[in-house]
Amino acid sequence: MADNTLKYNLPETSIPKSWYNISADLPEPLAPVLHPGTGQPIGPEDLAPLFPMALIGQEVSVEREIEIPDPVRDIYRMWRPTPLYRARRLEKALGTPAKIFYKYEGVSPGGSHKPNSAVAQAFYNKEEGVTKLCTETGAGQWGSSLALAGSFFDIDVKIYMVRVSFDQKPYRKALMQTYGATCVASPSNETEAGRVILAQDPNTSGSLGIAISEAVEVAAKSDDTNYALGSVLNHVLLHQSVIGREAIEQMAMADAYPDVVIGCAGGGSNFAGLAFPFLGEMLKGGPAIKAIAIEPAACPTMTRGSFAYDYGDTAHLTPLVKMYTLGASFVPPGFHSGGLRYHGMSPLVSHLKQLGLVEARSYHQTKCFQDGVAFARTEGIVPAPESTHAVHAAIEEALIAKRDGQEKTILFNLSGHGHFDMAAYMDFFDGNLEDMDYDAAELERSLSELPDISS
Ligand SMILES: *Cc1c(COP(=O)(O)O)cnc(C)c1O
Repeated sequence: MADNTLKYNLPETSIPKSWYNISADLPEPLAPVLHPGTGQPIGPEDLAPLFPMALIGQEVSVEREIEIPDPVRDIYRMWRPTPLYRARRLEKALGTPAKIFYKYEGVSPGGSHKPNSAVAQAFYNKEEGVTKLCTETGAGQWGSSLALAGSFFDIDVKIYMVRVSFDQKPYRKALMQTYGATCVASPSNETEAGRVILAQDPNTSGSLGIAISEAVEVAAKSDDTNYALGSVLNHVLLHQSVIGREAIEQMAMADAYPDVVIGCAGGGSNFAGLAFPFLGEMLKGGPAIKAIAIEPAACPTMTRGSFAYDYGDTAHLTPLVKMYTLGASFVPPGFHSGGLRYHGMSPLVSHLKQLGLVEARSYHQTKCFQDGVAFARTEGIVPAPESTHAVHAAIEEALIAKRDGQEKTILFNLSGHGHFDMAAYMDFFDGNLEDMDYDAAELERSLSELPDISS
């Protein structure tokens, strides 16, 4: 009988026992992280005002396997393992010989992959006696995920939300409140960093770089408050590796292995979460894959940015990391995929791109929404605007396979659902969605401000 399976479900006992750390398998090590004041490599004590030691340890670890604490696995059981689907109806609609699989992270209570790291971060902070966490959020997914994790571990959560998303997505704020967190629009008048930006431009749409400055400033100035970041950092990518670890098992259940692995990339965590375990297999001599990270044309970090040392935030409070960047003062236009508006890219993803192990593409938003709608009409799930970038890439790859009469197995990360983003879909249906480009002069200006690191 022909195999007709639609979804590959694993039992709770198959939730990975450890995270996979790709730093153990890199052909060349990452460039050191530098102190923003001295330009010298930082040590763990430099990060201690912001993060618990356990997370600092993970940030610099080169251990391949890092055990997932039982209380974290216990919470993962609420939604993990997440399902892996074969997109049979989409394949049929496209008439492609390619097999398309997707890992669906929208089944978490927050509706995206972000709780995978939020829960781990809240756990380690709680272990070290931290009672308050401060963070930023773009589209609101990270803020609601940390709010959720804060409620599980009894931690107060304060969230600075990028102004444009704060105005576009009032329900996200309500969700954060429901989980007991406080959310304000960024830039705000509550911080030095926010006040400086507001003085320059009272109508600014804000940016993740600005919101990070606000949250870092508050955490650095108070003893009982730590900072949490929802993407970019090594420990966040580490936590997301549960996605790819499960997917490896599920692909085996389907008797398949991906030729192409795709994820949308804001700071790089959902892409890495799916792709790194497969890249790790490849680096250890396993089958080759093509790993593709997709970014928006309006914030094209890897396709138009520089690979250079830069700050993680606008006010230059964070350490300097070597990454693809559009410059820390770059403010992207207010397009709909709020979760993809960061000026930088995770150092690990950047490094692998630089080594030729990761490919980057950028797309305009209307064709992504078009394919997001096609996906919803065949597969039933409404993708988050960010995830439509991955959907579009998967469809593009499937149509290339059709044109070339190629057998190909495509796996992508459906990082979240779009139930809180229906205003963006309404704009799409009303023809009000514009294909925005980044401002080339703005990019030139912000890149000219990259710090001068002679090393
Ligand atoms: C935040 C978010 C992203 C982008 O962040 P990464 O760290 O690059 O994964 C993508 N998709 C969804 C649904 C998100 O919430």
